[in-house]
Amino acid sequence: MTMLQKEKLQWSHQHLLGIRELTEIDIREVHSTAFAFKEVIRRRIKKVPALRGRTVVNLFVEPSTRTRVSFELAAQRMSADVLNFDVSASSFKKGESLLDTVLNIQALQSDIIVLRHPDAGAAHLIANHLSCSVINAGDGAHEHPTQALLDTFTLVEKLGDITGLPVLISGDIAHSRVARSLVLALRLLGAEVTLCGPATLLPQEFVQLGASVTHDFDGALPQARVIYLLRIQHERQQSGLFPGIGEFISLYGMNEERLSRCRPDVIIMHPGPINRGVELPSSIADGPHSLILEQVTNGLAVRMAVLYLLNHARLKTERCSRASARSGA
Ligand code: ASP
Repeated sequence: MTMLQKEKLQWSHQHLLGIRELTEIDIREVHSTAFAFKEVIRRRIKKVPALRGRTVVNLFVEPSTRTRVSFELAAQRMSADVLNFDVSASSFKKGESLLDTVLNIQALQSDIIVLRHPDAGAAHLIANHLSCSVINAGDGAHEHPTQALLDTFTLVEKLGDITGLPVLISGDIAHSRVARSLVLALRLLGAEVTLCGPATLLPQEFVQLGASVTHDFDGALPQARVIYLLRIQHERQQSGLFPGIGEFISLYGMNEERLSRCRPDVIIMHPGPINRGVELPSSIADGPHSLILEQVTNGLAVRMAVLYLLNHARLKTERCSRASARSGA
C-alpha cells in the first residue's frame, strides 16, 4: 500500500455532512487517501486493520444499492464491526423518531453512523446531537458528498488535473442531491460546469454555485469533455414538471447520433441507477466512453478513505482529551 503519512494529514472534520463544509484541500486529501486504498482493494487479501475495534452502523431509511453495499464493504475492508440497521424491522415502524433511534445506536458505543434519509438536513440534525461521527449518504434532494468525492476521484484518476475541464451535467437537476454535491466539488477543483435540463427541472439557484445553465442539450454536447447523466427522480417529483418520458428522451436522452457529435474522447458518467433507453442506451452505458462501473469501483476506495479520515480525526480528539485529563489530574 502506498504509505499514508498520518502525521501530514490535515483532515479535522468529525463528520462528513456535505461538500459545502469541505475545502479543496479536504477533497484532495480524500482523493490521495483513496488512491492508497485503491491499491488495497486490488490485492488478494483486501483488508487493512485501520478500523479494528470500531463500530460502523449503516442506517438507510431510503432504498440504495451501490451506496449501502459499498459502505458496508468499505467498513469490512477496514476491519470495523459493521451493523446494517434494518429499518423495516425496527421501532421506526412503531413511531420512534430518527433522533431517538440514533441516540440508542450511539448508546451501544457505535463510532460512525452512515445515514441515508429522504429528508434534506437529516444528517446535519443528528450530527448536532451525537458525539460519534456521522456520514451523510444522501439526504433528500440536498447532498450526497461521497458520490461527488468518488466522481471527482474517477476524473482525477483518469485525467490528472481537472482545472478548466468542461463538464456537462444533464437531466433532473432540481431533485438531484448528486448534482448539488458534484457542482460544489467540481468548482472547488476548478472544473467548468454546465447544467442542462428542462427549465422546470433546472432551478436558477445552481448559478450561485458557479455553474452555467442551458436547456439546449444538443448545443452543449460538442464542447463537453465529460457528460454526466442524471435520471428523472420520480420519487421526489410532483407531476407535470415535463410532458413525459418520450419528450425527455427526445430532448435530453443520450444516443448514438448525439454521441457522434461529441468530442471523440468524451467521457460518459452516471451515478446509477441507470434507466437503459432513457438517459442512455446500453450501447453507450456499456461502451468505451463509459466510466460508470469504474465509478462504482472507486466508490469503495473513496468510502474506505472517508472512514479512515473520520477515524483519524476521532483518534486525534481522543488523544487530546486523554492528554488534558492527564494534565488536569
Ligand atoms: N444513487 C444516486 C442517489 O442516491 C442517484 C440516483 O438515485 O439517481 O442520489
